[in-house]
Amino acid sequence: MCAQFPDFRLGKVLATSFTATLTERCGNAVERIPTPNRLVDWLAVSGLAVESCTTAQLERARELRESIHAAATAAARREPLPASAVQVINDCSIQGRAAAVLTPEGNRQWRLSSASSVEDALGIIAADAISIIAGERDGRLALCASPTCRAAFFDTSQSRTRRWCDMNTCGNRQKKARFNAHKRENPGSAK
Ligand SMILES: [Zn+2]
Repeated sequence: MCAQFPDFRLGKVLATSFTATLTERCGNAVERIPTPNRLVDWLAVSGLAVESCTTAQLERARELRESIHAAATAAARREPLPASAVQVINDCSIQGRAAAVLTPEGNRQWRLSSASSVEDALGIIAADAISIIAGERDGRLALCASPTCRAAFFDTSQSRTRRWCDMNTCGNRQKKARFNAHKRENPGSAK
């Protein structure tokens, strides 16, 4: 993988791992799939390997990503889903022709209709988003508490009280900010 591009933020949920390829949407946004090849890399680590990707396919992927983000954000806020976002998610889901296959070890894998079918991979991601937004899976859609992030994430914690999309980044930053504020207010206490 190429070191000059920003790392991926991979979570356990496919659809929100995908929306996390653009981070800090409310601050200085970081695009983590800036080129078609970077989308190929992301798909490979996400179990949806394709051989190639065109600029048009990358654009379609980003359109799906922002549609999932918009719909998941509305769902987390208990607001009506934006019709245009629903349309894109549904179109991507309908266009995908991937099949689930069972390995001899008993794991599920995705088989795409061809090695260049980014559309098939997007179909899987769209279907994953649909299952979360429709409330079919055990968990709760929530928005990251970081004011520069506000990413929609899927909280599967037992208490359903997770506050950050990612503990290692947004959560940690918040903790550090609080620690520094405490130090400012109580000089000497943190020595
Ligand atoms: Zn966050």
